[in-house]
Amino acid sequence: MNSEKNDITGDALADRLVDESAQAEAASTENEAVESPPFLIDDEDRYSRLRLIGWWDQEKISAAKVLIVGAGALGNEVLKNLALVGIGEITLIDFDTVQPSNLSRSVLFRTGDAGQSKSAVAARMARDLNSECRINEVQGDILTAIGLGFVREQDVVISCVDNREARLWINRMCWKVATPWVDGGIQEINGVAKVFSPPDGPCYECGMTEKDYQLIQLRYSCPLLTQEEVLQGKVPTAPTIASIIGGLQAQEVLKLIHRIPTEGGTALVFNGVANRFYSTRYPWREDCLSHESYDPIISSPLSAQSSTVAELFEFVDALGVGRATHIELDRDLVEQLACRQCDVHVDVGLPHSDVPMTRAICEQCGQPMKPKMISQVDRLDDSGRLLCRVGIPKYDIVKVQAESGMQFIQLSGDAL
Ligand SMILES: [Zn+2]
Ligand SMILES: [Zn+2]
Repeated sequence: MNSEKNDITGDALADRLVDESAQAEAASTENEAVESPPFLIDDEDRYSRLRLIGWWDQEKISAAKVLIVGAGALGNEVLKNLALVGIGEITLIDFDTVQPSNLSRSVLFRTGDAGQSKSAVAARMARDLNSECRINEVQGDILTAIGLGFVREQDVVISCVDNREARLWINRMCWKVATPWVDGGIQEINGVAKVFSPPDGPCYECGMTEKDYQLIQLRYSCPLLTQEEVLQGKVPTAPTIASIIGGLQAQEVLKLIHRIPTEGGTALVFNGVANRFYSTRYPWREDCLSHESYDPIISSPLSAQSSTVAELFEFVDALGVGRATHIELDRDLVEQLACRQCDVHVDVGLPHSDVPMTRAICEQCGQPMKPKMISQVDRLDDSGRLLCRVGIPKYDIVKVQAESGMQFIQLSGDAL
């Protein structure tokens, strides 16, 4: 009796899946001609089984660019999946190194990798999985190392981080340049995957509560505490939930690349104890600070590493939008650290999240020094400084205030 019931349920599910897949196929072929007969299977083609999926377009996947933020348990799973399906270009960023405790949850790490950069090890292993993918690694912090011009070029950003501050930062970057992003979070054997499609639908910050803001503020209560130092809280997770949520994230990425409708602003929550999935939609918040769009973006030949603040002002002056007055920094800059007691002043010139606590200790008295921070660079300031010396990363899009309004200048000189 029971097995019969199961069979019926199984059949019904199978029918529905076939139905849905046919619908998706119809949707995806509506605007395009079918290029090849569906039943020619070439076993020499590594993607032959994938191509059998009605809506699958390997060419779209091979042309796609994605950024994966975080090379922990989730990042490993997402990277593994996206390399297997042959995403054209994958960039992986993580500031951390491999620890023995990562080995129980990270499919791409081996015992001998301890102490090496997580992003470098994972990228190397993923290249081994599929040499057809171009895989770039960045050892750095998403808060400071990646310019907006780069985020703008991505088809999707995938967040595999374990803290709210990085998620909020990714959300704001993606909203500025309208790049979709997929978030994942895991704890014990439970998890959540979320899709955001700026400028449509609610965003990550729309769903943030007072408590979320408080937890992020905690970090700012000590402005010179790096992410690394805050992230001492170790989240308990199993490799199984990393596979489930990382798998879901990768599938949402594939849907976004194929323009199969996804529900932006919706969280898919999995309760692994009760085996229950449910989805919940974020509310849209009218006063949400993330809904800032950089538009229009103007390309310039400037570079963060070799162009000066003065050159950026001159570029904007020449646009015919009136005289440029100041740069609005996306990242607060620590100009100087000072100990009044000892009359010690140290020039820094780095975004606050790049200044480690250890650097902020006065060498003479051992007390924390006071940072002098700025959030904009005025035209009167020393404008012979390189843009990177005011904390602007490579290939960023810089906000410059001119008489007739804010200008968004892309440092395209860094593109190569
Ligand atoms: Zn929002
Ligand atoms: Zn001192």
